[in-house]
Amino acid sequence: MLPTPEDLTLDEIASRFSTDESARRYLEEIRWGHGVVCPHCKAATQKLIWKIKENRAKKIRAGLYHCSVCDKQFTVTVGTIFEDSHIPLRKWLVAWYLLCSSKKGISSLQIQRMLGLGSYRTALFMMHRIRYALSHPAFTGMLKGTVEVDEIYLGGKQKGHGYKSLSKKSCVVSLVERGGKARSLVLDRVTGQNLRNAIMEHVQDGSVVVTDDYFGYRTLPKIFKHKPVKHSAAEYVRKEKDFKVHTNTVESKFSLLRRGMIGTFHQVSKKHLPLYLAEFDHRFNHRKNTDGERTIAALKCAEGKRLTLKPLKRSAA
Ligand SMILES: [Zn+2]
Repeated sequence: MLPTPEDLTLDEIASRFSTDESARRYLEEIRWGHGVVCPHCKAATQKLIWKIKENRAKKIRAGLYHCSVCDKQFTVTVGTIFEDSHIPLRKWLVAWYLLCSSKKGISSLQIQRMLGLGSYRTALFMMHRIRYALSHPAFTGMLKGTVEVDEIYLGGKQKGHGYKSLSKKSCVVSLVERGGKARSLVLDRVTGQNLRNAIMEHVQDGSVVVTDDYFGYRTLPKIFKHKPVKHSAAEYVRKEKDFKVHTNTVESKFSLLRRGMIGTFHQVSKKHLPLYLAEFDHRFNHRKNTDGERTIAALKCAEGKRLTLKPLKRSAA
């Protein structure tokens, strides 16, 4: 029997999925739990799809299926981020698990050592592929209820003061639904218009939007109930009857991100920052789940994310 998501631990992965055959079967279970679907033509009628028996003499690999609708063959990795990867699937499973269970992230160097990968680049590609999958989650609904919004600057060496000192830094805005999900985006610049656009795009009309008293939030349209907390006047929590006006949720999320960026990843280019944000958002969005559940939720994002990584090759980190 396969381990339940709650029981999926690193020890389980290492002992139960120690061969590529077992790792592949597990991925099939996650991807095709309700029946095999042809990745080429999306046919899902089981009697029209059949498994081809492995035959090493005829170079027929294990896990191959034939779709009689489109007359093409496929395995579970076709059309996913695993396609064309030479890294064994069992190592992929461990990498997903480590990424999903490490609160502040895990460096590619450590992944290289732990999985015995040939090069740092291989480890980096692997981790970026996972992050890429997570950057397009199936959940695309709007945030609603009470949404805390805040922004921080990451990276770049602090030289001088004022606007110039910020130009090498990346600005990240996070929108966090209290008790719910989060979205993080990289902004070119922190302006009222950029913040407004981010909120309009991701937050449902009628929601309560809690921010600090940065002037850029002042022009938020009236479709939101805007409640600024006056950090400039040392106000951090304000009580309004049963409602607490504060941005502590988004700030604690940022502190984890900041610690991860300083302690684990050291330097992240502006270009790749959205990938890291997706990783941190995924862990945040599944913070109440076990490591195993968080890993399986992530693995479900692997589909439809085939990527050649050409854009990543030029500047890998
Ligand atoms: Zn087909």
